[in-house]
Formats: sequence, C-alpha cells, structure tokens
Amino acid sequence: MAIDNRCGWIALAGEPSPHPRQRGRQACDWLIIGGGITGLAAAHTLAARFPGQRVILVERQRVAQGASARNSGFAVSHELPGANELLGSPGFAGYEVASRIGAAAGNEVRQRIAELGIACEYDDGGYHFAVHHPAHLQQIDALLHTLEAVGARASYVEGEALQQRLGSEFYQRAIHCSGGNALLQPASYVRGLAETLPQGVEVFEHSAVLDLRRAGQGWQARTDGGEITASRVLACVGAFLPRVGVHRSGTFALELSASITRPLSEAHWQGLFGERRWGVLSTLPGGATLRLLPGRRLLIRNTVEYRRRDLNISQLQARQRQHLQGLVKRFPGLVAQDLEYTWTGHLSATRSGEPCFAQIDEGLYAVAGCNGSGVARGTLWGRLLVEMACAEPSALLTDVLGQSRPGYLPPRPFFDIGAALRMAWETRRAALER
Ligand SMILES: Cc1cc2nc3c(=O)[nH]c(=O)nc-3n(C[C@H](O)[C@H](O)[C@H](O)COP(=O)(O)OP(=O)(O)OC[C@H]3O[C@@H](n4cnc5c(N)ncnc54)[C@H](O)[C@@H]3O)c2cc1C
Repeated sequence: MAIDNRCGWIALAGEPSPHPRQRGRQACDWLIIGGGITGLAAAHTLAARFPGQRVILVERQRVAQGASARNSGFAVSHELPGANELLGSPGFAGYEVASRIGAAAGNEVRQRIAELGIACEYDDGGYHFAVHHPAHLQQIDALLHTLEAVGARASYVEGEALQQRLGSEFYQRAIHCSGGNALLQPASYVRGLAETLPQGVEVFEHSAVLDLRRAGQGWQARTDGGEITASRVLACVGAFLPRVGVHRSGTFALELSASITRPLSEAHWQGLFGERRWGVLSTLPGGATLRLLPGRRLLIRNTVEYRRRDLNISQLQARQRQHLQGLVKRFPGLVAQDLEYTWTGHLSATRSGEPCFAQIDEGLYAVAGCNGSGVARGTLWGRLLVEMACAEPSALLTDVLGQSRPGYLPPRPFFDIGAALRMAWETRRAALER
C-alpha cells in the first residue's frame, strides 16, 4: 500500500491558515521560535500580558503541524508511578511534585480550550494503563493508593469486563485513571491555539532560525529570509534545540510512528465498539498506544526509535506493517487496506525523564524534553517560560525549575550507540505489548 507520511490527525482536522515567510530586517520585544503547543501557549500568554509589545513567532515549516499535531492526543496529568515512586517509598516525594505539575498542566489545557473555544474532541474521562501480560501490571493496590494520594481517580479492571470495554481479548489487566487525564484531537487542539492568536502576534512560516547571536542587550536571529532582533527569545523547538544553537540541553530526539484506520463502519465493528471512545497507554516505554476515535477509527503508535537519520518512506512502510500486526493482535480481521494514514514525528527526550526548562543565557529561555507528555506540559510550559523571563516567581515555577534535571548525555558517538541500544532493548522488552 502506498504511503506518504500524511498525518491522519491533520488530514481529519483540516489545514491551518497559512502565514507569510519572514523577510528582511525586523525588530521585536519577544521572539518565539517554534509554532507547536509550547510556542503558541507562550504567544497567547505574552499577548495577554503585554498587549503593547511586539511579539514575533517563527516556524521552520508550517505552524501547528509538527509533533504537536502528530502525537497520540493523551493530555497527561497523572503518569503511572514507577515501583520506586509508590506511596511510602523514597521516590514518592518526587512523584508528588511531578503530579502537582501534571495536574496544573492538565488544568491549563482545559482552561485554554474553554477560553479560546477550541473544538478538539476534548474528553476528560481519563484513559487506561493496560497490559497483555499480567507481569507488566503488578502491585495494583499500591498503584491505586498512590494515584489516589496525588488526586487522581483510579480503578482496576481485568478479564471479561476489560475485554468488553475495549472490544479486544488482548488486554488482561488495566488501571483506568481520570481526575485530570484527558484525550483530545491533537491537530485540532494546536490548530485552535494557532487560529485564536491575537492580531498583535506576528507569525512567519517556512522561516527557520539558522542561528542566534547576542546583539547589544538582546539577540539577533538569522532566518532563511532575513534577520530578527529581539530583546528576549523563547526557544520552543522541542526536539530541535541544537538547530538554534542550544547544544547542551541534555535533550535528544526520538522518532515515533503511528497509523489511523479508515472508519470501521461494518456491523462487526459496530457491535464490538458501539459509539465508545477510549485510550490505552502501555506500562512499558516500548509498548503500544491505542485509541478508539470518534467515527470508529483506531489509532496505533507502536514504534519508538533513536535514529541518526529520519525514516524514509520504505522504512515507514515497514513501520506500517508493525502497526498492522499490533492492530491484528488486538482486533483480528483488520487488513492493510484498513490503514488510511501512517506518519512519523519526533519527540524530545531526556535521560532522566525530567525536562530541560532553563534560562540558557541572559534574555534566552528554552524548554524541551517532554518525554511524551508535552501536550499538557507544553501548554503549561509556554506560560511558565514567560513567567520565568519576567522574573515572576510562583510555587509552580519553583516546582518546574526544581524538576529540570535532564541528566548527563555522554559525547558522540558513545551517546548514539548507547541510545540506540537502550531503545532497541526497550522495544524487545515490550515485544508482548506492541
Ligand atoms: C507519535 C508521537 C506521539 C506522541 N504522543 C503524545 C501523547 O499522547 N501525549 C503527549 O503529551 N505527548 C505526546 N507526544 C509528544 C508531544 O507531541 C510533544 O511533547 C509536543 O508536541 C511538544 O510540543 P512543542 O511545542 O514543545 O514542540 P513541537 O511540537 O515539536 O514544536 C516545535 C516546533 O518548532 C519548529 N522548529 C524546529 N526548529 C526550528 C527552527 N530552527 N526555526 C523555527 N522553528 C523551528 C518545528 O518545526 C516545530 O513545529 C508524542 C509525540 C509523537 C511524535
């Protein structure tokens, strides 16, 4: 089957309105680099706080079409705690802080959607952490107590009840977690953030920042088409920080791939799925993410890789076969022709699992390293980056700065070898859950 890396979410949401290229010399108070969730949330924050100031946002490709549109649409407030983060263990304090940040991030998404009137299939009914092999979800009571201790609502479901809920005999155990966790259509969400920007924010597309240099009290950014000088710069480029000259952030890119099926309208699928919608996250980093979407489409994301070169189309075709295998294990009867869209995207990761959220230099601020939860956290980070740049302290900003410990990355080629091996191991370890 021919594939073209077309993101299903973007195809279903429709293309965002175009913006011009940046040309010539321009000056502004604030330059935002990157038109994803984080950059757009920062732009909304700046426009609301400083209506008289000039804000420019530049995007290398199209606004609202990078990872922010290409992800699986889980707005994460509460992650599943690790074995060393359970209530009563020494890691619980860190998990509590992460959950406080997560809950604030989930709220930020809800508020943005409500204030800006974004139609993005937002559903805050929660989702499942589900497994095929019981060994991959243990210490159930301790997990439930820990989740409840940080304000989540969590319940355990197994066997036939779970199979009826998801329409699949594949999953054996699950924890359903709500109280902040939500699902949404990511391309509609980020497009909504872009299309509701106040007029004061100037947006340029196809305008990559090629380098950043200090200029007097501020910064000069060289772009494809010209130059922008700015008093303050917010680098919101996710996995691409080195491209704007920030090399020691402790973050690196992982490439993921996903597929969405056609609408499964036959009686068989209608009987299995009804009008339900649900989401499933694996408990292992290499396991599959599944969603049942409105209109009875299925989404699967079951590859994650560290690569020096992006996947080409024939490699993406091989990933599409993995998507089909993952779907058929769960829903026998699906065939290759049922996959309507297959695409890739990059997320920014860190060794520790914690982000880089930092003042890089005077007037230059950057955030990256979402580790797969940037839909909610990116929305919050956009605002907090502005608050950090304006030296406006808050308990939440202190929490975020305290967690900004991305960890040490060894130099290349040692890092490349180590990262590729680690991701290959995570993938093998999760073979039963893919
Ligand atoms: C397949 C997949 C599934 C995922 N699933 C989830 C999920 O379910 N839940 C979740 O929370 N997160 C998920 N993520 C991660 C999530 O997508 C990211 O955390 C989020 O998009 C980060 O937003 P951002 O705005 O920081 O970065 P991005 O969305 O990456 O935006 C950065 C923008 O900067 C632009 N840019 C880069 N370099 C330059 C430059 N030099 N000049 C100008 N612009 C530049 C890029 O083109 C891009 O548009 C997933 C990611 C992928 C790829």
